Amino acid sequence: MGATIIIFLILTLIVTAILISPILTKQRRNKIKKRPFPPLWSAIIENNLPIYLHLSPDERRRLQGHIQVFLREKQFIGCQGLQVTEEMKLTIAAVACLLLLNERGEYFPKLRSILIYPSAYFVQQTIAVSDYVVEERRDIRLGESWTKDQLILSWEQVQQDTQNWKDGHNVVLHEFAHQLDQEDGKAEGVPILQRKSDYPVWARVMTAEYQQLCQDIQQNAITLIDSYGATNPAEFFAVATETFFEKPQQLFSQHQDLYELLQNYYHLNPTQWT
Ligand SMILES: [Zn+2]
Repeated sequence: MGATIIIFLILTLIVTAILISPILTKQRRNKIKKRPFPPLWSAIIENNLPIYLHLSPDERRRLQGHIQVFLREKQFIGCQGLQVTEEMKLTIAAVACLLLLNERGEYFPKLRSILIYPSAYFVQQTIAVSDYVVEERRDIRLGESWTKDQLILSWEQVQQDTQNWKDGHNVVLHEFAHQLDQEDGKAEGVPILQRKSDYPVWARVMTAEYQQLCQDIQQNAITLIDSYGATNPAEFFAVATETFFEKPQQLFSQHQDLYELLQNYYHLNPTQWT
C-alpha cells in the first residue's frame, strides 16, 4: 500500500513538472524581454542591419525582446581561432529573430549552439558512390543547419549578406528557416503552422511555386527566386524566405500567392519596410 502511494506521488510530481515547465519558461522569457535594451546594442544592430530602422516601432520593440531571449538561450562558439564578439552575436540574433515575429513562442527549440567560422570553411565529406566505391570530397560551405543541435555560419558571409540586404541572399535567414522547417523533426519545406487548415493551403501554393521554379530553371529562364531553391522543397522554403525578406516588392508582384503565404506565416509585410 505504502509503495503504491509513493509511486502515485512520484507520478503526480512528474506530471505536474511536465505541465508547469512551459509556463515557467514563458514567465522567465517574459521577464528577460522586459529588460531595457542596451543603447549600445541598438547602435550595433542599426549599423550592421540597415533594415532594422525600417521596422515599425512595435516590430522593433518585439524584436529586441526576442534578441534578449535568444542571446540568453543560445551558445555561440568561435571556430578556427575566431573570437566571438558582441557584434557577431547581435547581428546573427537580430536577423534570426526576424523569423520569430509571428510570436509562436518558440525559439528554434532544437538549436543549442551557433558555430561561427571567420570565412567560408571546408567540409571533408565521404560519399558512397556505389556499394564498393567511396569518394572523398572537400566541399566549401558558407553556412549549414544541422538537424542535430548546431548551426554553422561564416562571419564574412553574414556581414556581406546583412549589409547587402536587397540582393536576395542571406545565409542567416536561410539557415534559420531550415531550423523552423526541422522543428517537427522533418526537413521537407513545411514548418509548424498555426492551424490544421493552413497545411493544405501551404502544400498547394508551395508545390505549385516549387514546380514552376524547377521548370523555369530547366528552360534556362531568369528567375527572381534563386535557382538553388529548385534543389528540393526544403531548400525552396529557405530560399523563398530569403526572397520574401530581401526582395518583397518583386516577390509580391511576380509571385503574389507565395508572398501572401509567407506574409501569413511570418506575420510580417516587408513591402512596408522601404
Ligand atoms: Zn539550405
